[in-house]
Amino acid sequence: MNNVKKISPDLGSTTENEKQEAFEYLCQVSETVSCGACCGLYNISGLSKQSLEKLLRRRTEAFKQVPRTIDGIDEFRMQNEGWTPPERPFPDFHHCVFLGLVGESEQRVGCLLHPAASGNNGIDWRGLSYYGGMACRTYFCPGNKQLPQRYLKILKQTVNHWFLFGLVVTEFRLLTAFFEAIENKAGRPVTPDDFRKSSEATNRFRDLLEIKTNWPFRSVSSPGPCHYMFENGQYKRQPVQRKHPDIPVSAYETIFTELDSAFDSEQDLRMAEAVLDKLFSEIAEAVNHC
Ligand code: SF4
Ligand code: SF4
Repeated sequence: MNNVKKISPDLGSTTENEKQEAFEYLCQVSETVSCGACCGLYNISGLSKQSLEKLLRRRTEAFKQVPRTIDGIDEFRMQNEGWTPPERPFPDFHHCVFLGLVGESEQRVGCLLHPAASGNNGIDWRGLSYYGGMACRTYFCPGNKQLPQRYLKILKQTVNHWFLFGLVVTEFRLLTAFFEAIENKAGRPVTPDDFRKSSEATNRFRDLLEIKTNWPFRSVSSPGPCHYMFENGQYKRQPVQRKHPDIPVSAYETIFTELDSAFDSEQDLRMAEAVLDKLFSEIAEAVNHC
């Protein structure tokens, strides 16, 4: 069994929410934005937005037919674990098959065993999951504690799809480096209001976050957009790979590290810096002119 403490993409209606009053609640944000990263959401082979959405849709439909009994739910688990190919980016990180699509229009990821999920009639079935109900109810990821509230607010109000949200919300080092670079260019701290007032700032910020999914300088040995979000020393991120030792260290080294980058030449590294510089400048300009 994985030694990682687990999970909580619940539906935002139980007492654990109340414990989070001091935090920005990140697990369920809106009709289309939520997260399931700590339940292993992205830890599947061949990850893409389309493939994951398809998998979750299929599971959600299948779960509608499942009798809400211990045997019925256990049978579902056994049948559905086969739908997730075993070649995961992080083999010791469990991918929970009770992740599905939740909400009125089923447009965001969430837990099919949560008491508020459709068909459960208020009964909490999370005790039947791999890690057990306690872990499901009580885990909160580092992003909740390590990022300033204003950064989290900006994230919640700008990202409009669960796939990107869950991929980035646990990347606190990457997000901190992004925001610091934007603030350096802007010459001041940025606020949620800046982004509320400027659609240009919001759109460019989304473009910046999408780098997590489409980074052209990602190393071939990288596990892909999925990352291991627990701070327990397992699956540590590797330093930036350089084909030649004379390729310099960058001012954006932290960002390049968090994106699992590899550079064949100094020219590649400068191109990568230029991609980031452009986005940071555009966002800074937009927030300063709104
Ligand atoms: S990774 Fe964090 S934000 Fe996402 S579901 Fe888990 S605790 Fe919530
Ligand atoms: S049962 Fe699965 S999806 Fe639900 S909270 Fe627990 S780990 Fe996450």
